[in-house]
Amino acid sequence: MTDMPQPATGGCLCGAIRFEAAGAPLWIAHCHCHSCRRNTGAPVTTFVGFPADGFAYVAGRPKAFNSSPGVRRNFCADCGTPLTYEADRAAGEVHVYISALDDPDAFPPQFHVFTAEGIDWLRLDDDLPRHPATSR
Ligand SMILES: [Zn+2]
Ligand SMILES: [Zn+2]
Repeated sequence: MTDMPQPATGGCLCGAIRFEAAGAPLWIAHCHCHSCRRNTGAPVTTFVGFPADGFAYVAGRPKAFNSSPGVRRNFCADCGTPLTYEADRAAGEVHVYISALDDPDAFPPQFHVFTAEGIDWLRLDDDLPRHPATSR
């Protein structure tokens, strides 16, 4: 991740919301869980975990949806783009949906989580560690 933009920048599809995330990612992972799949409409969702103290919205503010107790999925209320995930059990982290970033190529994934909930036909040809549920 030597070419990682600093700070990382991103935003939603309509451009109303923009954010910056400073600091090195804590982890980068594919999530196959049912909630993420429903939330995005995609067969897998990829997140970059950033330190919360380096994350800030610089334009607009998202709306939050509580997808389970203590979990906030933040999205643009105008265009619907999923932006960030925050959980009480992961205090101090902001999980950014990777395609909300301006340069997702700079953040290659490191592992998979919740593969037990994944779609059977999805094949990702990588050798990354696969965890049936969470990795921690
Ligand atoms: Zn938007
Ligand atoms: Zn998930």
